[in-house]
Amino acid sequence: MPQTGLKGPFQLNREIIDTVVTSSSGVYALGYVEIGGDFIPKYVGRSDNDINQILKDWTSSQYSQFKFECYDSPELAFTKECGLYHDWKEQLDNQEHPKKLEDTKWKCPRCESC
Ligand SMILES: [Zn+2]
Repeated sequence: MPQTGLKGPFQLNREIIDTVVTSSSGVYALGYVEIGGDFIPKYVGRSDNDINQILKDWTSSQYSQFKFECYDSPELAFTKECGLYHDWKEQLDNQEHPKKLEDTKWKCPRCESC
């Protein structure tokens, strides 16, 4: 398992999200923690303006834990999201490659798909 460079894992609930997620743009991974204590990522996402709210939207999902990192730059967040997506692609529930913000020239560092 590659190093994620993300904070966590944390329990996916509203109190914890409000305590630890204080910036607006960032990257997150949703998943669960194995009996041995390893975080198993199942979904990777990004928010360009409200990662706190997006994580709350996931609190009633099948995922129990999350990791995240906030970035001042949405482009940096996108680059990180792409990296995680490619690292974990085989095990993720994500069906599609991360999408760049409209009207930007962001490029995935790992492939040509955007
Ligand atoms: Zn890519």
